[in-house]
Amino acid sequence: MRNERIGDYLVSQGLITEEQLQKVLATQKESNGAKKFGDVVVELGFMTEINFTKALAGKLRVQYVDLDNTDINTDAVQKVPEALARKHTVIAIAITGKRLTVATNDPVNFIVLEDIKVSTGMDTVPVLATTSAINKAIGKCYSMQNVDSVLEGVTAMASDLGGTMDEDANERVESAPIVKLATTIVENSFRADATDIHIEPFDKYTRIRIRVNGDLVELMNISAAVHSALTTRFKLISGMNIAEKRIPQDGRFTQVVDGTTLDVRVSSLPMVHGEKIVIRILSTGQIALRKITDLGMSDYNYQLFESMLRVPHGVILVTGPTGSGKTTTLYAALGEIAKPNVNVVTVEDPVEKAIDGINQCQVNQKAGMTFAAALRSILRQDPDIVMIGEMRDTETADIGIRAAITGHLVLSTLHTNDAASTVVRLVDMGVAPYMVATSLIGVIAQRLVKVLCPNCKRARMSTDEENELMGIPSSIQIYEPVGCPNCNNTGYRGRTAIHEIIHCTAKVSAIIAAGGGKEEIEAAAKANGTKLLRDNASELVQAGETSIDELVRSTFSV
Ligand SMILES: [Zn+2]
Repeated sequence: MRNERIGDYLVSQGLITEEQLQKVLATQKESNGAKKFGDVVVELGFMTEINFTKALAGKLRVQYVDLDNTDINTDAVQKVPEALARKHTVIAIAITGKRLTVATNDPVNFIVLEDIKVSTGMDTVPVLATTSAINKAIGKCYSMQNVDSVLEGVTAMASDLGGTMDEDANERVESAPIVKLATTIVENSFRADATDIHIEPFDKYTRIRIRVNGDLVELMNISAAVHSALTTRFKLISGMNIAEKRIPQDGRFTQVVDGTTLDVRVSSLPMVHGEKIVIRILSTGQIALRKITDLGMSDYNYQLFESMLRVPHGVILVTGPTGSGKTTTLYAALGEIAKPNVNVVTVEDPVEKAIDGINQCQVNQKAGMTFAAALRSILRQDPDIVMIGEMRDTETADIGIRAAITGHLVLSTLHTNDAASTVVRLVDMGVAPYMVATSLIGVIAQRLVKVLCPNCKRARMSTDEENELMGIPSSIQIYEPVGCPNCNNTGYRGRTAIHEIIHCTAKVSAIIAAGGGKEEIEAAAKANGTKLLRDNASELVQAGETSIDELVRSTFSV
């Protein structure tokens, strides 16, 4: 009954439709009540977790808390034992007199609050937060205490050994402190939203840095004496040859952190003071669940992109430098168009994320399984939609475009600066202009820009020079980064994408077929309503989401 009321409330607020409500209730019924209403609404993509939680807070008249941007009091955290916090998905965030403020995803669950009251001897004030934010906060807050004790263990071990421990490294690898250290490094990196971990050996110490929002940030320094044991541990679990230390190797392993399975890629490279290990934390389950609407596309660009995806055959290209989120966009597009009645095949190098219901094929150069070879075989297997990880060479581009002309929808990426240059690049690669013109549905250029930390960004008026960069006539209030504990003193938190979409209308196609250059194509696209990357970045600066520095970095330096 309670669930039905939440559903009716959402419908009355216009947050979901009656039809969506019926779908949620039916799915919930199928699960025999094992699934919560909120989980199903999110799973089916009708609402985001945050929006649902905010709506629930509104209905229950409980305060909603954005844990990512809240200072969590460590004394409060320690009042609730970790096991209890994990069992009930709660985290204590503040103490006011004798009252403990507890973030929960289920504020009407009387038993949970009673449990905490008994355990802490304090009155509890529930506030509402999303399940994922609570799990992340639990991981972060309790593990900070763990890191200290892990490092103590490692330090004790290093001093026991005196000097270097190279000789016995293989035995030490299985020792508790090293195993814990390796696990903790991956855990903490994931919780800090890092994409890569660098373990760098120097003469006296080993530095561990992580890449967050595109920048390297120091995570910790450890004694040089344990370097060899730590690298051996990572090599061991990722399936490398631990006896071989003179040549580069690569491998992978999976680790579960806070309920998310991480696909971890490891590579080693011999350096002067030992092997440097770089660990890439690959797109977890989250990417597959990301919808196009979550990519940070403006409404305008989203409408355009969606209309392109509805074209039954042709080529859609996503372009941008390495690390600009091209693959995320492609996967989201595939998620949108992959239906049970179509055959979707991908050829990738590497397969970054396994997606249910899609046939994914891994390139293997050594075995002769190149993009072009894989593509030829795939086209014999009756595909409807083909995703090519990258059009790296002429042969691949040529096969891809021929496939589009013969009735397939082809999605791929290309390494170019902007949407218009992509067309020129294809022609430069040797694809005939008329074939590009006939097959191309559209091109999406993409960049990631850092989002200003909402906690510490500082307002000021823009200068004349900046107005020119933004393409606006007079000064407005903009924001600049400052730095605070919430953002690792970087001034930024998270990233969002900006896009530039050229839809190949009849006019644009005619220009391409006639061998038109970048300027001509861009002018026609602009007349047709294309907003350039710079226009999109400018909008973000004007909205206070990002800084002028980011506008310049993302749209000028290439
Ligand atoms: Zn900050």
